[in-house]
Amino acid sequence: MDRRSLTLAPPTLAADDLGFFRWGRVAGKVLLTNDAGEHAFLSEQEFDDLLAGRIGEGHGRFDEFQRKGFVRDGWDLDAFATRVAKRNRHVRRGPHLHVLCLTQRGTNPAGAPNAAGQGDDDMSRETGEQIVELALQTMSPTVTFEFRAVAGEPLLNLDVLRHTVEFARARNRQAAGKTLRFRLFTNLSAMTEETAEWLIANDVHVTVSLDGPAGLHDRIRAWKGGIQHADVVRWIEYFGRRYAELGRDAAAWHIEALLTVTRETLSAGREVIDEYVARGLRVIHLQPLNRLRVDADTWARVGYGVEEYLDFYRGALAYMLDLNRRGVQLSERLASIILVKMLTGDDPGVVDLQSPCGSGTGEIAYGVDGRVFPSDEARAVSAMGEPMFDLGDVRALSLVGIVRHPTVRAIAGASLLDLQPMCADCWNKPFCGYSPIRNFISQGDLVGQRPRCFECKEHMAVSTQLFELLANEADSATAEILKRWTLTAPDLADAHASQEAP
Ligand code: SF4
Repeated sequence: MDRRSLTLAPPTLAADDLGFFRWGRVAGKVLLTNDAGEHAFLSEQEFDDLLAGRIGEGHGRFDEFQRKGFVRDGWDLDAFATRVAKRNRHVRRGPHLHVLCLTQRGTNPAGAPNAAGQGDDDMSRETGEQIVELALQTMSPTVTFEFRAVAGEPLLNLDVLRHTVEFARARNRQAAGKTLRFRLFTNLSAMTEETAEWLIANDVHVTVSLDGPAGLHDRIRAWKGGIQHADVVRWIEYFGRRYAELGRDAAAWHIEALLTVTRETLSAGREVIDEYVARGLRVIHLQPLNRLRVDADTWARVGYGVEEYLDFYRGALAYMLDLNRRGVQLSERLASIILVKMLTGDDPGVVDLQSPCGSGTGEIAYGVDGRVFPSDEARAVSAMGEPMFDLGDVRALSLVGIVRHPTVRAIAGASLLDLQPMCADCWNKPFCGYSPIRNFISQGDLVGQRPRCFECKEHMAVSTQLFELLANEADSATAEILKRWTLTAPDLADAHASQEAP
């Protein structure tokens, strides 16, 4: 072949007329996306016309493409830059999510504490105070404190939880003036009415584990620890009743639940969703089992592959939409986060679903002894004997020192999607993000390779399913439901896309 006959670009590419966009094929149409989070579906003919510069003033879609930044003619660059900056404001926000591991004591399958405190198994009051002092250095106007345990129950160290909440409020009144939020992840094994009343009175949001209907939940709790289904339901009802009696806004004040998805769950998607509806829960968070938190023997019994999980997800999402069409109000959390990015021109700033990832810059985690990590997952890696994510001690670090730490910089660089092969050209880039710490766990390095990355497959599958639904112009009812789901994400700015069930 004569090399001069090779053409590497379409013969009629009007490059100077085009804005920067990425593209792919979804639902039989051409999908364009760009860094302002805009998207448009085109026919093949429209795509050809766009590339050839034949979509100009007077064309039926010119105004839309101009407004979205897909063509340069009359493009308002300042307005576009403002939209891009808004979607990336998380890089200027400062650490806002602080995850405290209050105890290393877990609970056995009967729900009882495994062992009495050994002194250094629990975080001390003094460490809690140091964390508060560090956290309030942030320039973020909101600060969320999340209380967790290594495995099991942070309420086993209730004294330090209460002290930290009260100390944070007092210090914030004196010095910082920020909006504080508190969230407890509990398996309820140490919950009492007295504790529940204190949590309610002190505006601590509560997240519990609910793994499905009674049989499934109780079988999962048999190896994971925590309380039986009937007791979880009793506490969900207790908090719901008390919030109502106190006149709290139900949209802001309701118990939240997390789901552990095992192999058995994959064939029980409808039953699990029906259980969440029956308990009055408004959001379900479908997420795969975290390989890091499960030993090899247990994984052999309850684990599964990515394709099995994605089949489960697709079926569950379709069933949830069916329920919504019949008037049920239940949204899926990951879909809601991605829909905010697709439909609102905003980005909720969820630390592990943004570019760059917010580990160390949006989120900081603390071990019981005051050691500092860029995320709770990094703390778990350290607990397994790999110290590469250890940043130092809370007594010796400043917030600036953490954000500028070489490890945090490496994480940011490894998760900047514009720099990564595949991501830089992927139509899903404006709606995506991944965790270098999870890459390290699963692939042995921070960057990893996208074809071997679980999150890449998961995020692509979810975005594709959502865009397939949005592309169906004949189904405006579903599009309206998906728009409504963006409203179910008011607190996402303080949260993870991936949340370990307690
Ligand atoms: S992680 Fe995968 S889905 Fe996300 S932007 Fe990169 S290539 Fe696309």
